[in-house]
Amino acid sequence: MSQGMATKYVFVTGGVVSALGKGISSASLAFLLQKRGLTVQIVKSDPYLNVDPGTMNPFQHGEVFVLDDGSETDLDLGHYERFLNKSLQKQNNVTTGQIYNTIITRERRGDYLGATVQVIPHVTEEIKSRWRGIGRGENHPDVVIIEIGGTVGDIESLPFIEALRQMGLEEGMDNVMYLHLTLVPYIAAAGEFKTKPTQHSVRELRQNGIQPQALLCRSTAPLSDSIRQKIGLFCSVPTKAVVVAEDVSTIYEVPLKYHEQELDQLVCEHLGLDLGQPDLTEWTALVERIKNPQRRIKIGICGKYVMLKDAYKSIIEAFVHAGVHNDAEVDLVWVSSEDIKKGGAHKFLHDCHGLLIPGGFGERGVEGKIETIRYARENKLPFLGICLGMHCAVIEFARNVCKLADAHSFEFYRDLKHPVIHLMADQEGVTELGGTMRLGAYPCLLKKGSRSAAAYDSEEISERHRHRYELNNAYRDMLTEHGLVLAGTSPDDRLVEIVEVPDHPWFVSVQFHPELKSRLTNPHPLFRDFVKAAVNEYDRRLNQQTEGSRTDGDVREVSS
Ligand code: GLN
Repeated sequence: MSQGMATKYVFVTGGVVSALGKGISSASLAFLLQKRGLTVQIVKSDPYLNVDPGTMNPFQHGEVFVLDDGSETDLDLGHYERFLNKSLQKQNNVTTGQIYNTIITRERRGDYLGATVQVIPHVTEEIKSRWRGIGRGENHPDVVIIEIGGTVGDIESLPFIEALRQMGLEEGMDNVMYLHLTLVPYIAAAGEFKTKPTQHSVRELRQNGIQPQALLCRSTAPLSDSIRQKIGLFCSVPTKAVVVAEDVSTIYEVPLKYHEQELDQLVCEHLGLDLGQPDLTEWTALVERIKNPQRRIKIGICGKYVMLKDAYKSIIEAFVHAGVHNDAEVDLVWVSSEDIKKGGAHKFLHDCHGLLIPGGFGERGVEGKIETIRYARENKLPFLGICLGMHCAVIEFARNVCKLADAHSFEFYRDLKHPVIHLMADQEGVTELGGTMRLGAYPCLLKKGSRSAAAYDSEEISERHRHRYELNNAYRDMLTEHGLVLAGTSPDDRLVEIVEVPDHPWFVSVQFHPELKSRLTNPHPLFRDFVKAAVNEYDRRLNQQTEGSRTDGDVREVSS
């Protein structure tokens, strides 16, 4: 962009209900602007009082998305990274907890001596300075998209809404744009889409001094022009700026739908940016492949939070990416580890072509996970274990191959005969829980000839972590003597990062979280090769079936 151009800010608020996909909408717009040649930054502003989501239960908040720099952030940052294909930083997630933490620390230091510290101006100034920090920060982006968490009308989000009103005033209205995402529900009894909730939601925004310039209307089906006109009229938005965000079969189609309706053009015009059209050829082709898979394979996921898919968001997306690159749709079969304990692994996994055990915390369900891993190892079912999944794989191997019947993890029991998983040395004495795990990107060296080295096609990698426990080095020799391969270690060789079971189609367990770095255009090598192994298993069974029926035919022919 032109030198010296003021940074543009696009704010995305949400109304009517939460969980409408504001994160995906923000990421989609960011993607379209990036494809038009702009440098784009994106920020999630979360109104809750936690400093970060790291201490929240996944049932409350969904997945905690860890960045390279070790910050624990909102899962929307995962969408941002996946759509923009770039790594973000701590500053890309602002929370009320961080804002208050800074202000109270300053107040105690005496920085505000003599003043009453208040929401306006102190809290709003701090919010704006963080947003501008990104806007004026390193690499000076052309556009910063700022998503406000929650729904307008929430008490908690008021300071953010006030700060974005002030941004319009201070940055100039041609440098700021307000987008509002709402729901247009279909009322079956009346056979109609209803615009009233959108009208109320926009009225709420206007009461706070903000007139949105475009509306993104979530709906279950396309909206007619007359509905769009009506919404526009009541909300003072031109009809062409009433963009329909209807349900689509894959989130990766959202930017294409927005582009069809010229949302990116509208934003560029409002902000005075004269740019060419984005090249969406590669993305469109990938979306077509997602929608038209050549085969459907099944992968079992055995975890504790299977009721709440948001807890495994990045894993779900990593399978979409890996599936596309293997011409397969991956059907995820969610199995509660507690059900496995009751019903046995075969009952739930016999028609799966692979098994994944994700990360997790706490002992509940662990025995069920160990049981499924045994099933996968013994029945040669492709397997990927992640973090706690790797701990369980090591325990299973120690118990059933090394015959250490009481092998377990120090995370769950302190008085253990065989703590094959133990606390990392630098975690000893840690008492505060927030932000104190081993977090973020660390390097790892891969063993030549291992499945992991083949997948990455490299001998040194960097992956993101979030854990306190690790494989106990005192058991390394026993495990390797019984055949476990230590396929990845930290460069100082103190920490085992990857274990593999050879003599198996594909059995890899990792201490880190590969799902956090998978992108649609660049699937994670381990997910890609895991899905490839599952596709091979699918093909093997298919061949077996056709051979079986051919044999049956032969037998019939002979007997007739
Ligand atoms: N609870 C385990 C640990 O803290 C694993 C963590 C995880 O799976 N993210 O080491």
